[in-house]
Amino acid sequence: MEKHILFVDDSPTIRSSVSFCLRNAGYRVTEAVDGKDGLEKVQSFKDKGDTLSLIITDINMPQMDGITFISEVKETEFKFVPILVLTTEAEESVIKKGRDAGASGWLLKPFQPEDLLWAVKKVVWPK
Ligand SMILES: [Mg+2]
Repeated sequence: MEKHILFVDDSPTIRSSVSFCLRNAGYRVTEAVDGKDGLEKVQSFKDKGDTLSLIITDINMPQMDGITFISEVKETEFKFVPILVLTTEAEESVIKKGRDAGASGWLLKPFQPEDLLWAVKKVVWPK
């Protein structure tokens, strides 16, 4: 079954490069521009009965940051969907906040496509 990934990042350049990499590897990708938009997308998947295999999110974003977004997703029925963080943020205290909020993994930008795909494969369960 096709695996659906939600990718949340406020940078259009990062969105297109990450989406390209994931789509090239056979994943279906929905993009969101910040945490608020990401949460609305999650709600719309629920309303449509759509599946979600993985969320990848940035941390520093306007309207709603990645830590808040992760905490909010954990309040929805998609709470068991693994969440990978892809960020420039390497501060130990922020990484701890992400882990406490429920992130499954942490990747630093700039990313190498093979590292991203390796991390994605590790957390996306085969169906
Ligand atoms: Mg950002």
